[in-house]
This record gives sequence, C-alpha cells and structure tokens, in this order.
Amino acid sequence: MRTFYAAETAQHAPKTFMLRGRIAQNEERAERAERLLAGLARLDLKAEEPPAAPAGTRSTVHSIRYLEFLETAYAAWSKLPGAGEEVLPNTHPLLPGPTYPTGIVGRTGWHLGDLAVPIGPGTWPAVARAADAAVAAAEVAATGASAYALARPPGHHASREVAGGHCFLNNAAIAAEVMIARGARPAILDIDVHHGNGTQAITYDRGDILFVSIHTDPSSFYPWFWGYAHETGAGAGEGANINLPLPVGADDEAWLGAIRVALGHIARFGADSLVLSLGLDIHASDPLGGMSVTTEGIGRAGELMGRAGLPTAIIQEGGYLSEPLTDNIAAFLSGFLGASS
Ligand SMILES: [Zn+2]
Repeated sequence: MRTFYAAETAQHAPKTFMLRGRIAQNEERAERAERLLAGLARLDLKAEEPPAAPAGTRSTVHSIRYLEFLETAYAAWSKLPGAGEEVLPNTHPLLPGPTYPTGIVGRTGWHLGDLAVPIGPGTWPAVARAADAAVAAAEVAATGASAYALARPPGHHASREVAGGHCFLNNAAIAAEVMIARGARPAILDIDVHHGNGTQAITYDRGDILFVSIHTDPSSFYPWFWGYAHETGAGAGEGANINLPLPVGADDEAWLGAIRVALGHIARFGADSLVLSLGLDIHASDPLGGMSVTTEGIGRAGELMGRAGLPTAIIQEGGYLSEPLTDNIAAFLSGFLGASS
C-alpha cells in the first residue's frame, strides 16, 4: 500500500485550546505524526512525499476568500497593535449578516468556528501539504488501489469556509472530489470519535456522495450541534447523509456493529470506492476520546474495511497523543491489508 506524508505539516504547531473555560495546551501536536509514522514503519510502509496538488483542487471544496484568509491571516494579524502570537477569534457572527468583514479581526471570527484552530506562522504551508497527501491517496484510489494519507492537521470538522475542531481544510471532501473528477462514485465513511460535521455540511445537499458517520452522541460530545440521526440530507442529497451516533463509552462490539451497518448502506448506495476518515481517537486511552474501543477492535475494523473490497483513500483524522497511537495505526492497516490481499 502506498502511503503519503508531507514533512512541512510539522510547521503547524498550535499552542492554545479552550477546555471547559480553561486555556489548555492544544492536543493537535506534530508528535502525532511521528507516532503514526512509527506505526507505518512497523509494517514496512515507507511514506512518500506527495506532489503539490494542481491549482484549483482545494477550491473544489472551499471558498476562495476562505483559502485567501488561511494563507494571509497570520501576516495580517501580526500587524495588529499588541497582537498575540496566534490568530484566535474573540467574536462570531452568530446572527449572520450579508456583509463579509474587511478587517482581520472580523474575518477571524467569520472563519474560525471555535478556539481549537489557532493559526500560527506555519499553519498555511502545513494545511496545504496535508491536503496534498489526501489528494495523492485519492489519485491512487481512483486507479483501483488503496492508499493512506497521514494528513495532519485533520480535516473533517472544516466546512466550506469555517475551520473548527483542529481542522482547516477538509482533506476527505477534497479527496472525494478528486475521485469524482475521475468518474468514481465514492462514499465517505467517517469513523472518528467525533461527528464529521464539516464533511456533512459540504455534502449535505449532494446526491452523488454518500456520507456516513459513526461517532459519540453529540448531545453529550463535540461537535454538539450536528451529528444527530435525524439529519439525513437535503434536496438531491436527501437520504445520502447517515449518522450513527453511539453512547459515550461505546465498546468494540457496539462500534464494530455500527461499521457493519455503515458498510451495508455503502453497498446499497452502489459506491465503487471509499474515502475513509480514520480517527484513532475512538481508542479508550485517547485524551480527547469518548469511546472504549481497544487496539484489537481497531484491527478488526481494518479487516471489515479491507474485506469490503473497495478502493479506499484512507485519510487520517483525529487520534491524539497516547501510548497506543503507534499500535493503533499499525493494527488498523495490518487488518486492512490482511483482509484485502
Ligand atoms: Zn476526533
């Protein structure tokens, strides 16, 4: 299996995170990638540097003004008198008006949906290269094989022009667009512990992509406002959005059962390929997690996915610093490769 990782993504080193009213250390750290790379090495998988994606690939999913904001925000912010060392919002358009703000403080509130997405000097090159890794994996999937993108920072909470939950560019949605442009009919399956609200927002009125998410019940877990079972799509996308929330603390049996249900939906949709949003924060010891899934359960999920037999672009989402992170990526990919070979 080909795997992709861009070294420039280590330049994104967010410091700030708000947790229950307390300013805490941001958990989305570059060391995550080192631990995931160690898991690949254990399987003798050598990550390739992805090529730079063609101009226009990112704007299949994101608005031009949002991409320009991400690229230029840090420089504009740094010129503010007394600016802090990261771009962070202090006001949001909760009653959205028709006017896009001209100043950097207003635009920051417009585009950064929460306090988990501080922008520093290395954020733009990192998020652009993370998306390149996803594009490279999608190009492989479009040829009928499967590939893994170690995309960091993750992407599934990012919508068309709002970042949130450690995510800036929606790597999975960008991958799906690459595959559709090659004539594929993909489904996106999101097995991160958090609902993929950004991906849902991007695909909600689309009938040509099935989006299925398995996650902790948002009534008691981030992202709070989206991810409920009654959210089934709109317009041409009615019925093509499926949320399978699980109670806090869900174990291997519950989680694997939901994956089997999801694979049934994907087969009925007639998907010929898959984008898998792989969040390893389902593990019991994840610092941001809400489930009790084991490393063995993650390996069995890999087997289920491999047995489904679809060319798959596996896109890394969450999975934060915990002792078993290396074991977990190795278990998933080992299960996937064993079942699909
Ligand atoms: Zn997550």
